[in-house]
Amino acid sequence: MSPEAIIYNNQFPFESGLCLRLGACYSGCGNNKLMHRWSELFIPTLREAPADAEVASHKFLVRAGYIRQLAAGIYSYLFLGNRSFNKIMAIVRQEMDKIGQEFYLPALHPREIWEASGRWGLMGENLFRLKDRKGADMCLGMTEEEVMTSIALKELRSYKQLPQIWYQIAPKFRDEPRPKSGLLRVRQFMMKDAYSFDIDAAGLDVSYKKHYETYRRIFDRCGLKYMVVEADSGAMGGKESHEFMVRTPAGEDQIVSCDGCNYAANMEKATSKLEAVADLAAEGDGKPLEVHTPGQKTIEDVARFLGVSPKNKIKTLALMAEEKDEKTGKSKLRGIVVLMRGDHQVNEAKLNGAVGGATRPMDENEIKALFKSPAGYLGPVGIEWARDRKKDADKPVLFVDQALEGRANLIAGANKEDYHLKNLTPGKEFHPTAYADLRAVTAGEACPNCGKALRIDTAVEIGHIFKLGYRYSESMGARVLDKNGKEVTPIMGSYGIGIERILTAAVEQGNDENGFWLPAAIAPFEVVVAPVNVKDEAVRTAAEDIAKRLEAAGFDVILDDRDERPGVKFKDADLVGIPFRVTVGKKVTEGTVEVVLRSTREVRDVTISAVVEHLQGLLRRAG
Ligand SMILES: [Zn+2]
Repeated sequence: MSPEAIIYNNQFPFESGLCLRLGACYSGCGNNKLMHRWSELFIPTLREAPADAEVASHKFLVRAGYIRQLAAGIYSYLFLGNRSFNKIMAIVRQEMDKIGQEFYLPALHPREIWEASGRWGLMGENLFRLKDRKGADMCLGMTEEEVMTSIALKELRSYKQLPQIWYQIAPKFRDEPRPKSGLLRVRQFMMKDAYSFDIDAAGLDVSYKKHYETYRRIFDRCGLKYMVVEADSGAMGGKESHEFMVRTPAGEDQIVSCDGCNYAANMEKATSKLEAVADLAAEGDGKPLEVHTPGQKTIEDVARFLGVSPKNKIKTLALMAEEKDEKTGKSKLRGIVVLMRGDHQVNEAKLNGAVGGATRPMDENEIKALFKSPAGYLGPVGIEWARDRKKDADKPVLFVDQALEGRANLIAGANKEDYHLKNLTPGKEFHPTAYADLRAVTAGEACPNCGKALRIDTAVEIGHIFKLGYRYSESMGARVLDKNGKEVTPIMGSYGIGIERILTAAVEQGNDENGFWLPAAIAPFEVVVAPVNVKDEAVRTAAEDIAKRLEAAGFDVILDDRDERPGVKFKDADLVGIPFRVTVGKKVTEGTVEVVLRSTREVRDVTISAVVEHLQGLLRRAG
């Protein structure tokens, strides 16, 4: 947590008049609720996690009574879960209000606007579709580009009205094929989505930067350890794009990062610095030299058989892609051949980016037709490759990975059973249609910035910002007049935060076998005051008194006034995500209580008069 966030935690209500505290607020905002007493609340903790729960956040959010499943990928938020949720949304709202304006938009959309943007067809089965009583097609919104753009195109007329940043925090729907992992892959979720409209690219840069900085403030205040990752914007079609990611084994995305510098990128975007490889010396007269390699099909087999490193070998991948013929508009298949260094793997997303669409492996007949050779002995020599994809529409395309650029005397299949060719140099014996970065980075390779070893981790995406460009404004026909009275298309950005993702990432980030602890700013309560025996008058009144004083000092407090054994109370306190506990026991007669820091289990005897100050110190440190 940043120092700024600590100031917010302790002073924010007084600064803004907007109260983050959901219990008792003493800022004069009117939120003066009475003490939260566990005995009067509905906190249904469970000993057992749901049978299908694999990740910590799923297990613990159910066990702690935060959420209950209604149907696959659809959850109800109970008291504790909703308090935490509301705190996260309050932080998001406070920060977003500094740069934008909040709207409230419908979740139920008419087909027409999704037709206009082109996404009615594109979204396929992920979009929840329904019909109204008149038979008109409707859908439940996944994001709000269409609705926001439809407002912009009717209302924005002039450059004088720009820039605009509009946002909302509202439920979104996605007909996820395999809902799982509790709140990580759901069919209804809460999202903050924002959209910017600018007159030109320079304006978009400013709006983008504002979001970048706002997102950092939001995630800092939420107490997350996150990374900002360069991202491929994929199907969204933008240019610049960043993802905000939290490392956790529960994540479904992979990110490449460097501990030596700030470098971080997702797999589709990641690169690394390769060590120089010694090329083989030319053999014979330097022309392609056929060598007999009977039965040697794999890269490793051939390299071993010839006594060379796989780094001196070319791996040939034979693929097919469906392409649209620019003249006829009909789609047709085109051969896509990819050459990689023998020890490298291709990254599918990078390949799709280079090809401009998906590919599939060639079948046996397609291989025979192009290479005139059985698989296992394929290579680039003897085939006429497209030099220009547009002009040579009938020829196969040859993509060569950048790691092979500038290399010489490589070995590849000879397009002849049981034979390979030596002395192959790209640009000499064969001509690539294009060089491209197609390689999947692996852990331990050198960072492109500082050279230290890269690491690869799984992560959860909590936020994503990207420059949409003109895609929606153009397809939906938004126009404004510029300074010279000329009609221009406004340029857009789109910015999302998954509210559930913040909660789940925080749980994944801080848990052990007994439960979890949330950062104080997003925990349902900051402190639980637990008297070990409520029948003991001295213990009970001391606990009440401490809870009241903590509330007066601005803490969000829950008093565990249940008539339960201490063991039961401590188990629950450990489970439900509250970062600090004050245990009021026998030592109360000596004027001391125990303060427990949930994350480290550090226990300290503190005199009753110093409890408030001690917890303020812990809150500052916990940041
Ligand atoms: Zn580095």
